[in-house]
Amino acid sequence: MKVASYDIVFQEVPGETTLALNISGCPNRCPGCHSPHLWTDTGEELTRELIDGLTARYGSGVTCVCFMGGDNDPEGVMQLAEHVHRQGIKTAWYSGRDWVPQRDAAPEWWRRLDDGRLDYLKTGPYIEACGGLKSETTNQRFYKRNDGGGWTECTHVFRRKV
Ligand code: SF4
Repeated sequence: MKVASYDIVFQEVPGETTLALNISGCPNRCPGCHSPHLWTDTGEELTRELIDGLTARYGSGVTCVCFMGGDNDPEGVMQLAEHVHRQGIKTAWYSGRDWVPQRDAAPEWWRRLDDGRLDYLKTGPYIEACGGLKSETTNQRFYKRNDGGGWTECTHVFRRKV
């Protein structure tokens, strides 16, 4: 899994100052994709050491690390998220797939999400006609993990800011 670029962002995860890692090698091929440069396997290898270096550089100002993509290696995302979470930093995953956060219908790596290594999750491909998270008609969903386990959908928080 490789990271093509990274940035500090404020809107992708409401209430958090987020180090966004733009992961390449996206397998989803959404028509109208806003980031086609992420389709190829470009950038540097995304390792624990790379993430540690970035979070150290930005210090306590970063409250969350967001994996933007990574659908080509969801298990890898989970492992890195676990590592980040152990440092006391929240974690988010922007997946382009329609993973439904319900234990019973999910693959094994997904069931491990409930152990707390992810705090936020965005699901769904980009569909141009529906728009992104700020659109009233979006197909995408944003979830926050509950303290006691499970997830609460809170996509609406993006629309308040329009
Ligand atoms: S998931 Fe994102 S990067 Fe991948 S094809 Fe869809 S819009 Fe493009």
